[in-house]
Amino acid sequence: MPHASAVRRSGDQRIGPDQQTFRHRSCRTGTSCEVSAWLTFPGIAEGSAFYFTYFVGTVAVTVAIIGAGPYGLSIAAHLRSLGVQYRIFGVPIDTWARHVPAGMLLKSDGFASSLSDPDGKGTLANYCSDQGLPYHDTDLPVKVDVFVDYARDFQQRFVPDLEERQVVSLDKEGDVFTLVLDDGETLTADLVVNAVGITHFGRMPDELKHLPESLATHSAAHHDLSGYAGKNVHVIGGGASAVDIAVLLSESGAETSLIVRSGQLKFASPPSGRPRSRWDEIKAPSSGLGPGWRSWLCQNRPGLFRYLPGSFRTKVVRRHLGPASGWPMKARMEAGVKVSVGTRIEQASEVDGRVRLVLRSDDGSHREVVTDHVIAATGYWPDVERLSFVSERVRRGVRTHAGLAMLSGTFETSVDGLYIVGPAAADSFGPLMRFMVGAEYVAPLVARRLARRARKEPARGVTTA
Ligand SMILES: Cc1cc2nc3c(=O)[nH]c(=O)nc-3n(C[C@H](O)[C@H](O)[C@H](O)COP(=O)(O)OP(=O)(O)OC[C@H]3O[C@@H](n4cnc5c(N)ncnc54)[C@H](O)[C@@H]3O)c2cc1C
Repeated sequence: MPHASAVRRSGDQRIGPDQQTFRHRSCRTGTSCEVSAWLTFPGIAEGSAFYFTYFVGTVAVTVAIIGAGPYGLSIAAHLRSLGVQYRIFGVPIDTWARHVPAGMLLKSDGFASSLSDPDGKGTLANYCSDQGLPYHDTDLPVKVDVFVDYARDFQQRFVPDLEERQVVSLDKEGDVFTLVLDDGETLTADLVVNAVGITHFGRMPDELKHLPESLATHSAAHHDLSGYAGKNVHVIGGGASAVDIAVLLSESGAETSLIVRSGQLKFASPPSGRPRSRWDEIKAPSSGLGPGWRSWLCQNRPGLFRYLPGSFRTKVVRRHLGPASGWPMKARMEAGVKVSVGTRIEQASEVDGRVRLVLRSDDGSHREVVTDHVIAATGYWPDVERLSFVSERVRRGVRTHAGLAMLSGTFETSVDGLYIVGPAAADSFGPLMRFMVGAEYVAPLVARRLARRARKEPARGVTTA
């Protein structure tokens, strides 16, 4: 007689207090998988039919994916087609929908702005064709709202089982990971893929850190810029994200200045409008990271990157494809943004609810400005220590270089069973990881590896509480 407990049978696998685990050995794929077994008996209460539900057991899922950006969703799509049981958590495409400026144009070409699915059918090109939207592989910049709609459509088609919940804690004891979700659910998993992208890793200049958020923010905090209309705003940074946000602020009616440390701003060249010749391809082969042999190598041989010397790796990750802004932004920037190159912040302080900045130019001169708000578009550095939801013991277990995780050839950290993908994998796999086109390489490789491990390793038992 199974132990009777008044438990709810629900799709989200919440179970009663008398839970047990068992191993399910007849799964189609042979992978360890989560199976809830329930016995249901009809009964009568106060004249209406109801059911006693008896919980018998649950077995383990194996893979938990944290993050529903291009990398997490692509891996889930591949796992699904391999028949591996997984759970994936996160708000779909949240970085793109809420943490980049509205109206932005993607820096990556159309052909390099897709998520990865096993048959290669869920591309941006196919989506635009189905929806009757304008598209070109290289000559038409992709609008961020089109990309967000496309990526959400991808999620619904290829990863319909996404759970829109945040993981608030990740720990590991023995062989098993424990995850806590923002609604209090706790689950355990054998293998974890950390696909949290960039949002934990915004870099704020030391000179601005002491200012309150009402006066100084990181660019990741911004999407709709219309609230700055009529205000004076200083943007700090010389990369694509600084130029984008400065242009969009100015077009939203803010009086905008851009403070750039280096001596010049770089913009990508506009497309020539003629097809690339064979000679063009020899000189600078095409790649998802733009034309050029270095970018080609980054895209086509990412597995070699981790064998390079550490200091060289860091330099490449920091600099390759760092600062250049998209070509369409140049004219728009010149139309409305005041730019100071060769200038850095020396001091920042609060004065009467505004910010006083002391700026120093490369020629040694100083000047002061007072502004309503400062936005630091100073990039991201995916230091493992910044993953505040990951327990200290797990973070300490991850071997790092320059703060970034050092990974095996299949993206596993030195913590057995913990995988890291996306920008946080850049120290091992190079600049490709900073772009979504890297998911084409990562998703099939990691999914195959997880499927092999799931088949080989006995399920240790996943329980939910
Ligand atoms: C302004 C800007 C412009 C860019 N333009 C381009 C471009 O044109 N082309 C390009 O290829 N790349 C571009 N990038 C880089 C881009 O961010 C990455 O290519 C891409 O987002 C990486 O995908 P991801 O899945 O690793 O990360 P993300 O897209 O950042 O997705 C990670 C997701 O994980 C979620 N998450 C984080 N923590 C948790 C948690 N604890 N629980 C649950 N979910 C969590 C986040 O909310 C997020 O939705 C740009 C970046 C910026 C900042």
